[in-house]
Amino acid sequence: MMGVGQTSATRQGAACAEAAGTVRRVSVLGATGSVGQSTLDVIARNPHLFEVAAVTANGNAQALAQIAVRHRARIAVLADKARYGELKACLAGTGIEAAAGAEALLAAAAMPADCVMAAITGAAGLRPTLAAVGQGRRVALANKECLVCAGRIFMESVRSAGTELVPVDSEHSAIFQLLAGAEPDTIERIVLTASGGPFRTWSSERLERATPQEALRHPNWSMGRKITIDSATLMNKGLELIEAYHLFAVGPGQLEVVVHPQSIVHALVGFRDGSMLAQLASPDMRTPIATGLAWPARIAAPTKRIDLVELGGLSFERPDETRFRALAIARQAMEAGGMAPCVLNAANEVAVEAFLAGRIGFLEIARLVGEALEAAATRGLLAPADDAAAVLAADAATRQLATHLLQRHTRN
Ligand code: NAD
Ligand code: MG
Repeated sequence: MMGVGQTSATRQGAACAEAAGTVRRVSVLGATGSVGQSTLDVIARNPHLFEVAAVTANGNAQALAQIAVRHRARIAVLADKARYGELKACLAGTGIEAAAGAEALLAAAAMPADCVMAAITGAAGLRPTLAAVGQGRRVALANKECLVCAGRIFMESVRSAGTELVPVDSEHSAIFQLLAGAEPDTIERIVLTASGGPFRTWSSERLERATPQEALRHPNWSMGRKITIDSATLMNKGLELIEAYHLFAVGPGQLEVVVHPQSIVHALVGFRDGSMLAQLASPDMRTPIATGLAWPARIAAPTKRIDLVELGGLSFERPDETRFRALAIARQAMEAGGMAPCVLNAANEVAVEAFLAGRIGFLEIARLVGEALEAAATRGLLAPADDAAAVLAADAATRQLATHLLQRHTRN
């Protein structure tokens, strides 16, 4: 089956062509983060194409104000209401509007713009991204948690608002490009690649003792802390399977993961005639961000060009789901459906924070997520939700549950 994402791709092509030659306003949600900064870099390198509408962040007033001034944003918004005074003071005399709080964040996401980059991290990105989707804004989607927590609801909103949705996650950007123009029933399978992270070759015994510093040292990508830990556990690839499932509307059995340590091939699509297409790019988010902002146009991005001879070879291996249990758990959650992926994500957010704080060991991240899913099933928390409020309630209930379970894991 072909997904709504694909239908959107076609529609969005027309919209983009219309917009060619005009300056497009882009709002950046999560502007102080890794994807946010890379987005602003691509925008700054293409001033004839883009200008910045809103920029948002969680609580860092100074960093957000600096970004707003440097990129001449119209408005800067913090999620944390308590930091409003600081933000306002930082922006005094600049002519840039300051705002703060949950409602202000939603308003910023929904304000007039030609494109919204959804780059908040975690389930916290759900409501703001839905606000942008609901206004029919074109959305460049980095926040995979939206689709993991609320995939069906999110894609229904995209459909009913006629929103153009362009994935920015590198694998999904690759698949999106590979599927352009393909008939749904010609697609046999979709392969997402995973770098394998910093612990690809580590034994289980060594993984037991892995530290946050070691886990944060990703071999290929420079990213925010949460997704970097997810890359080390392979939970990131599990979340990405669920993301692909919703974006491209294929069956779970058509989605595969292969480990590719060089992170040059981002995804492959196999068709029924035996042909397999791959997308290649250096591991630098500015390529999928540029694709997401401009598609179907191609704009300049300053990423390292691939030299195949210098690379010498590309290698692929099967993921080891015994050492990296998170991938198997995520696949099971995808197959179970309902709120299982939401519970998986919320428990994982709690577990990753606990690991980063030195409260649990590396392998306990997947253990905690597995236990949270079992406990949620026992409590009947996995039934499908009808709306975003019910999803967020399941998210909050899981955080409580996982925090409770954490006490058993916590090191003394
Ligand atoms: P990051 O931690 O570097 O940045 C997160 C941004 O979100 C910051 O601006 C932060 O202020 C904001 N934020 C955090 N909590 C918030 C809250 N409660 N309310 C409002 N804003 C909040 O994260 P990142 O690595 O840039 O990742 C952003 C998203 O993009 C994630 O969903 C991630 O999975 C996805 N993604 C990232 C990469 C990458 O290379 N970094 C690649 C693919 C997908
Ligand atoms: Mg990715």
